[in-house]
Amino acid sequence: MSPFEYAPAPESRSIVDLQPSYGLFVDGEFTPGRGTPLTTVNPATEEVLSEIAVGTDADVDRAVRAARRAFTRVWGPMRPADRGKYLFRIARLLQERAREFAVLETLDNGKPITESRDVDVPLAAAHFFYHAGWADKLDHVGLGAAPRPHGVAGQVIPWNFPLMMLAWKVAPALAAGNTVVLKPAETTPLTALLFAEVCQQADLPPGVVNIVTGAGDTGRAVVEHPDVDKVAFTGSTEVGKQIARAVAGTSKVLTLELGGKAANIVFDDAPIDQAVEGIVRGIFFNQGHVCCAGSRLLVQESVHDEVIASLQRRIGTLRVGDPLDKNTDVGAINSAEQLARIRELVGIGEAEGAHPWQPAGELPDRGFWFKPTVFTDVSPAHRIARDEVFGPVLSVLTFRTPDEAVAKANNSTYGLSAGIWSEKGSRILSIANQLRAGVVWANTFNQFDPTSPFGGYKQSGYGREGGRLGLRAYLKES
Ligand code: NAD
Repeated sequence: MSPFEYAPAPESRSIVDLQPSYGLFVDGEFTPGRGTPLTTVNPATEEVLSEIAVGTDADVDRAVRAARRAFTRVWGPMRPADRGKYLFRIARLLQERAREFAVLETLDNGKPITESRDVDVPLAAAHFFYHAGWADKLDHVGLGAAPRPHGVAGQVIPWNFPLMMLAWKVAPALAAGNTVVLKPAETTPLTALLFAEVCQQADLPPGVVNIVTGAGDTGRAVVEHPDVDKVAFTGSTEVGKQIARAVAGTSKVLTLELGGKAANIVFDDAPIDQAVEGIVRGIFFNQGHVCCAGSRLLVQESVHDEVIASLQRRIGTLRVGDPLDKNTDVGAINSAEQLARIRELVGIGEAEGAHPWQPAGELPDRGFWFKPTVFTDVSPAHRIARDEVFGPVLSVLTFRTPDEAVAKANNSTYGLSAGIWSEKGSRILSIANQLRAGVVWANTFNQFDPTSPFGGYKQSGYGREGGRLGLRAYLKES
């Protein structure tokens, strides 16, 4: 039997109450946008899910004014412990409505329901719980006795972890006393709009959180609005550079969380089976649409053949298909545009002489799909070793000595994350200290926690999200 043939175990989508169209969430209410609406589709079926309002400059201006009013009159002056209560309330509502959020995220994004259910939604709630606890303890973040919020935060997020990225942005901003105008990605706005309902349900004062949907132009309007004090962006390095240019010379404070091309380094003393699980998790989790994905496997030459054989066996058991099916390991690619980009880079990889391998099995007829792919014989000069594919595509390189592993790992314009697989603790510490990456995992990969700062070096951006350092980005010394 092909590994793609399993008895289906679909999660019901009936828990989700999809509206035919959604407005912007401004000043505590849903209101129409003035731009030409977009549609959002289920990438696994290409079915149109809903029509989404597009915010124009005037809409963004309305949202920023609402955020400023709420900051000045309500949220800024509020007792920090009371702000914390709102955050706890939001966190609990996210938990109560977890199934609804998980199904909606999977419908809109294409990620497997097991991931939205077990990773995205619980981590989003965890971010609110964690930051709720900080709200009345800000004098302990290391910015003096009474650190102050910046004011209005303009936040723009990508499509790969829509609710989780929202939580990483909104929770610290609110805990620190800022108000927010957030722009979700154009292909995945639905969980942000459900989050707007949660804000209403939590009785969050109007204007504290505003959600303005739309594409790049709406994002630009948020970033460039003169009354936005703090800009937080997660997305591509290319757009991050444009934003850095737009903000330069203004008094806005900026944090950028951008792309990555992480090295996942397997030494010859690593427990191979465990490492193979980590390689799979590193690159096929969320279809590889992960900024910190372990997309470059650096494997010590003496164990290369064993690792690749074992990896291919394991990939052969991954189930690719219906994201709502609880058996699914790898879901749909988020959009036709992203699929085209993956295909282009894979084509370049083949043309440059690397060897692609894919497991057997059929892909669904409709929707956007790409099989898990492993390229061997990759050289550091190949595009697939340098560019972020942002898909389920692994590039395998080899090394002989620890020094060569470090040199190859650091040979990247990015520096977001890395992984080390070895049984020797001293080796792990020594290598980790030499890697130019914001997060280094040892004998694991893609682990996230709200207490742990996350962010990059070089073209992966600047600033941290999560933990005390992430919170500090939303505060200034008094
Ligand atoms: P993208 O940069 O194309 O878009 C990100 C967001 O920016 C979207 O909401 C988009 O509408 C908006 N946008 C586009 N142009 C804009 C402009 N000129 N001004 C303001 N906003 C604008 O990225 P994407 O394709 O949505 O996401 C994938 C990228 O995000 C990858 O490169 C990935 O590595 C990165 N990412 C990074 C992290 C991290 O924490 N470092 C996390 C997730 C994703």
